[in-house]
This record gives sequence, structure tokens and C-alpha cells, in this order.
Amino acid sequence: MKLHCLGTAGYHPSATRHTSCYFIPEHSLMLDAGSGLFRVEKLLEVEEISILLSHSHMDHVFGLTFLLDYVSVTPLRKIHVYGEHVKLEAVRKHLFDELLFPILPPIEWHPIEALGRRFELGMAKCSWFPLEHPGGSVGYRLDWENLSLAYVTDTTASPQAEYWREIQGVDWLIHECNFSDESIELAIKTGHSWTSAVLESAAASGIRRLILTHINPLATDSDPLGLAKVDDEIWTARPKQIVVASDSLIVDLSSL
Ligand SMILES: [Zn+2]
Ligand SMILES: [Zn+2]
Repeated sequence: MKLHCLGTAGYHPSATRHTSCYFIPEHSLMLDAGSGLFRVEKLLEVEEISILLSHSHMDHVFGLTFLLDYVSVTPLRKIHVYGEHVKLEAVRKHLFDELLFPILPPIEWHPIEALGRRFELGMAKCSWFPLEHPGGSVGYRLDWENLSLAYVTDTTASPQAEYWREIQGVDWLIHECNFSDESIELAIKTGHSWTSAVLESAAASGIRRLILTHINPLATDSDPLGLAKVDDEIWTARPKQIVVASDSLIVDLSSL
């Protein structure tokens, strides 16, 4: 099962990253719909896809407006969008107000509250859980027969945060890490995570494979998360596999 990282920046695009969007073609499943969504065109070979939205901040939903193009040039005909009711309403009313965008693509909206905390999504059991973030966000856990994946963005990681209980034992965790340890104050203020806090919390919860993403678009050097500067103790205890996501990276989730 391949995870295509289509957009790996937080907040706004940079010369090398677009904003949050991930796609698993094998299950026609997308995680968030930021500006990176435009990279999906060549991967769309089916009539329907599902999109799980973490929340409705612009960097996670802007790409929904691109879908109109892809229903005309790919087999795509229907898009199922899942998220909290108020977030879906905000997107529908504001992003797709004709003053901002002229036509609503063929989207079917699925408020997750109506589905319960755990629902069937194609071949997966999908569960969702709240995350602390200005305006609120939700994380998702997907359990397929032989593989599990959790997606946690946007939030401030700490070993005490309740969501770690929901993702115990997952094979892969995609977790936001907008900031390096040099910007802890800004991370707290904006409801985001920093490198050491994510590594420490993930290790404490027994996470073994971690994909770090939602990366600060202003951090353009070769080590945007400052991994080389992480405290020895935290580094030694880190999850055994750490991937810093980049746009167009494909992660083979099946290689456990
Ligand atoms: Zn974000
Ligand atoms: Zn946000």
C-alpha cells in the first residue's frame, strides 16, 4: 500500500512544498485537501474517492476547489468528503460561496458525528478523535486487515495528550511537526507541534514508524525540523523509523 505525499507544508505553499494532502490510490483515499491536491491528477483512475478532512483551515481544504478540473479530465465523478459537521458546513458555505468559487464539484458531504466514533470506510475501519487546535481538529485511525495508519494534524504534541490512547499500536503514524525546537513558543501559540515533543510523545506511546509532516514552509534547509539538534536522550528513544515527508515522496506502508 503506497502513501503519496502530495502536499507536506503547513500554512502556505513554498517553492518546494504545497499544503497538506496525502493519497492512497489502492483505497481511493485522501487525507486532507490542501493545495498539494493538484498533484493527484495522474493517480485518479476511479470514479469515486473519499477525503478525510482534519479540519477546515485553508491549508487543509483549499484544494477541494481544484476537483472540478479532475472530474472533467479523469474518470473521477463523485467525491465523498468526511469531517466534523461544522467544518463541512464552513467549507460548503464559505469556500464554495459563489463569490469565492463559482461551481460546487460533485461532492457528497459526510458529517462524521452521524457515523459514530468508528465507521466502515471501504475496506478499513475508521475511527476519529478530537485534537486540541484553535477551532478544533480531528485525527483519524484507519485499520485495514493487515495494516494500520493514523493521521494526526493539527495539534500540539505532548505525552499527556489524550489522542495517544486512540492510536496505540498503529503500524504508521503521520504526525504534524510544523516547527523545530527553536520555535516552541510559536508552536504553542498557534496550536502546532515541535520536533522533540513529537518524537518524545510518539516513543512514549510505542509508535515505531513515524512520518513527520505539515512542515513550516519557511524552513527550507536540508533539516527543516532540526533533527540533528534533538537532545541525545530523546533521539536515542525515538521511533525506529522516521520519515520527514516531502512533496511527491511515496511511502510504501506495506514494508513493515
Ligand atoms: Zn494546518
Ligand atoms: Zn489548522
